Amino acid sequence: MEFEQLRATCLACDKCRLCQTRTNVVFGMGNPNAEVMLIGEGPGKTEDETGLPFVGRSGQLLDQYLKAVHLDREKNIFITNIVKCRPPENRDPLPDEWDACMPYLREQFRLMRPKIILCLGRIAAQRLIRPDFSVTKEHGHWELKNGTWFTATLHPAALLRNPSQKPTAFEDFVALREKIYEVCDHTYPEQMK
Ligand code: URA
Ligand code: SF4
Repeated sequence: MEFEQLRATCLACDKCRLCQTRTNVVFGMGNPNAEVMLIGEGPGKTEDETGLPFVGRSGQLLDQYLKAVHLDREKNIFITNIVKCRPPENRDPLPDEWDACMPYLREQFRLMRPKIILCLGRIAAQRLIRPDFSVTKEHGHWELKNGTWFTATLHPAALLRNPSQKPTAFEDFVALREKIYEVCDHTYPEQMK
C-alpha cells in the first residue's frame, strides 16, 4: 500500500540535519482513510522517544479535546507534524528543514485527500494557511483551499502555559465537530450509510 511505502521511506530519511539528532522519525498516526487531519509543528522529547505524535503532556490535553467531540486518534483522524524529526532542544524548525520535510506532508495529503485540516498552533497555521496567520486572532476561522477546509486552534502546549485560554480552544473543537457534520461522510458512525 502506497501509504505504508511512504511511511517506510520517511522512517529512513536523511534529507536534513535533524536525522543526526533524532531517536525516532514521527511519521504520524491514525487512520490513513480519515477525512480529518491534525497537523502540529514537530515532535518533542516524548514523541522522539516513542515515534508517535502528541504523546507528551500536550498530547494528553489534545486527547481530552478530541474525546469531547468523539474523535479518536486510533479511529477517525490522522495526526502528524510539519517536520517529522525532533529539532534539538525543541527549537523551532529552520526553513530548510521545513522545505526538506514538506514533501512527506504533501504526499500524506495527496494520498489521504482530507476534507478538513486542523492546524495545531502558529507554526503549522502559518506554514499551511497563510504566512501572516495570527492564531490568537484567527483561530476557529475556516478557509476553503482546493476542496479542503483549513482551520487552526491554539497549540495544546500554549494552553498548558495559559490555561485561561482552554475554553476558547474548546470552542474551536466544537466548531470542528459542526464542520465534520457539514462536509464529511464517514468520520462519525452516524454519518456512515
Ligand atoms: N507538539 C507538536 O507540535 N507536535 C507533537 O507531535 C508534539 C508536541
Ligand atoms: Fe527527513 Fe523530515 Fe526528518 Fe529532515 S525532519 S530528516 S526531512 S524526515
